Amino acid sequence: MLVNAKEMLVKAKAGKYAVGQFNINNLEWTKAVLETAQELSSPVILGVSAGAGKYMCGFKTVAAMVDAMVDSLGITVPVALHLDHGTYEDCYKCIEAGFSSIMFDGSHYPIEENIAKTKELVDVCAQKGLSLEAEVGAIGGEEDGVVGMGECANPDECKMIADLGVTMLAAGIGNIHGKYPANWAGLSFETLDAIQQKTGDMPLVLHGGTGIPADMIKKAISLGVAKINVNTECQIAFTAAVRKYIEEGKDLQGKGFDPRKLLAPGTQAIKDTVKEKMELFGSVNKA
Ligand SMILES: [Zn+2]
Repeated sequence: MLVNAKEMLVKAKAGKYAVGQFNINNLEWTKAVLETAQELSSPVILGVSAGAGKYMCGFKTVAAMVDAMVDSLGITVPVALHLDHGTYEDCYKCIEAGFSSIMFDGSHYPIEENIAKTKELVDVCAQKGLSLEAEVGAIGGEEDGVVGMGECANPDECKMIADLGVTMLAAGIGNIHGKYPANWAGLSFETLDAIQQKTGDMPLVLHGGTGIPADMIKKAISLGVAKINVNTECQIAFTAAVRKYIEEGKDLQGKGFDPRKLLAPGTQAIKDTVKEKMELFGSVNKA
């Protein structure tokens, strides 16, 4: 059964570790993340972006697949199914589809409008028992032409959004989606510290977890980060493993063309990456 992310994140923040959000793209991805969480007895959040939702034939299909898989695989660790960077409209679609958690990304709206829409969704999620992530201060990406520092959120604005009653708060602290540029200035711990001081117990979310050095991850957790999003790193690991399979000519040997055989090394690579992250984040045996 799916749960919302509230309890796992409150525990993580209090226990000074972080729960990983691993974005899923297909059945193999979902299975790899769920099996690893179960093997390591770790809580887990499955992230679904609008693009991935569309690719998997819509949020309803995703929710049905995840729900059935949790049951079929006998998964007993807490699993939340979470919309990643949701638009206002997609938030409602996911609530309807049976997600247990949503992110409303209103960071591109003026702060007043972000507050109004977030507040409305706080009330809806409270009624339906979902957890809600809000975002303040846009998180950059290399494709946006952002180099060096990502954006840093205003701690006072973070407090305004946190006070609305959201479950978790994503705030830009110089983090970036995708691969980090060589001249990246690193996370702004000064900003993170200021945000945590203003928002108290609020679990903070670190987006763009791929390529942030382990010592920075640990420091971020010590300053209140309780959820870390991982996406690109699993994609790179998956594709490299499938590439190796083909480059070694294994698809041409025997029944190596069987898609279950072709995708097996990629699936294993996701499992290895997820394990490494759960160990780094400290969520192993915290289910
Ligand atoms: Zn993100």
